[in-house]
Amino acid sequence: MSKSLQAIRGMNDILPEQTPLWRYFEGTVARLLDNYGYRQIRMPIVEFTELFKRSIGEVTDIVEKEMYTFDDRNGDSLTLRPEGTAACVRAVLEHGITGGGQVQKLWYVGPMFRHERPQKGRYRQFHQIGLEVFNLEGPDIDAELIVMTWRLWGELGLRDAVKLELNSLGTSESRGRYREALVDFLSAHVDKLDEDSQRRMKTNPLRVLDTKNPETQAILVDAPKMADYLDDESRAHFEGLKARLDAVGIPYVINPKLVRGLDYYSKTVFEWVTDKLGAQGTVCAGGRYDGLVEQMGGKPTPGVGFAMGIERLVLMLEALDKVPEELSRQVDIYLCAFGEAAELAALSLSERVRDQLPNLRLQVNAGAGSFKSQFKKADKSGALYALILGDDELAQQVVGFKPLRGQGEQQSIAWDALAAHLATCVVQG
Ligand code: ATP
Ligand code: MG
Repeated sequence: MSKSLQAIRGMNDILPEQTPLWRYFEGTVARLLDNYGYRQIRMPIVEFTELFKRSIGEVTDIVEKEMYTFDDRNGDSLTLRPEGTAACVRAVLEHGITGGGQVQKLWYVGPMFRHERPQKGRYRQFHQIGLEVFNLEGPDIDAELIVMTWRLWGELGLRDAVKLELNSLGTSESRGRYREALVDFLSAHVDKLDEDSQRRMKTNPLRVLDTKNPETQAILVDAPKMADYLDDESRAHFEGLKARLDAVGIPYVINPKLVRGLDYYSKTVFEWVTDKLGAQGTVCAGGRYDGLVEQMGGKPTPGVGFAMGIERLVLMLEALDKVPEELSRQVDIYLCAFGEAAELAALSLSERVRDQLPNLRLQVNAGAGSFKSQFKKADKSGALYALILGDDELAQQVVGFKPLRGQGEQQSIAWDALAAHLATCVVQG
């Protein structure tokens, strides 16, 4: 196929074989968020470029090299959203729903776009479920976000495979003091730093801590630690968070090098990481951003949030064999009809069954080849039972009822009794 008729590199189709697992994952998260009282918000996937520059920060990987930016027909510079927080903050400000200290607990799901090098777990269009909470400043809400994800890992069977890393970046004042100390330290070792770190030292020195270069990492062992520069308020906040995690028994490690790639974080930052996905090990990441709303023109409004990468979590469920068995079965009942009159009867019979069993997954296959080929399809569908409706059955106003999975003989069931019979053999979701 010519290249222009193929999907764009790093932007994937999610095929029917994969969508059940996506829906299972998204459904599990949505139900959990409902239980905790979070409400969904839906933002556009395109925003003014300026929004992302202002909120994410000019000197970040995302803004410097990963955004899909273009001019629209009016000459406005627009960008496909690389993350959700900026647009969510824009939306709450625009609609005034955080004004007067109103608490908002929001979540969203959808595609994000970053021009990165595609590889396993890293794509150019990927999907996130994100949460943002506004106007709650205590560590209890940071803890709630983490507790909620911990419950999610429990429901998905992933607890043993993830690890929580935590750090505190302090307030912007204490981070400023730390930044100075770090720059002093880095300047004293500048000739031994890798090129990227030399550049970052001038533009965004905290990001040097994030380096993957082993030699730079070795030098950083003696670098000043943020923990020694934390202001009292941030220290107490961090202690409060840790105490709550201890109280519910969630294990964590403090990672002083965890700085996150975006400029807007303050105080708590955290990541859930796994060693089951190779290099793309972060499955959920977030933190507090108490200064962001003000920086974007609103009143001072504390905020905290996180986003998880759906592709990476789906990959993890597959890699760890945590895909629920029942997802392989998309259909409960498969109705095969043969002959014109029988096909007509199959249509009205199946509609009668649907009236009575609205949650039954009933697939009708009429006019689709020989008995043998229809049976093959019925079997492949994963259905538990096949219904057979041919001329003989039509004459007697019955259907053949044939178990496709376990043992059991084929029986004849009268049309009038069919829905009641199906209700006893299929557990409906
Ligand atoms: P990474 O360090 O892996 O680049 P990040 O810090 O850039 O991640 P965030 O902006 O915090 O990622 O996004 C939150 C989550 O979204 C990540 O933890 C990851 O699970 C997912 N994610 C981020 N970028 C991608 C991508 N290009 N492809 C797939 N998932 C991604
Ligand atoms: Mg990234």
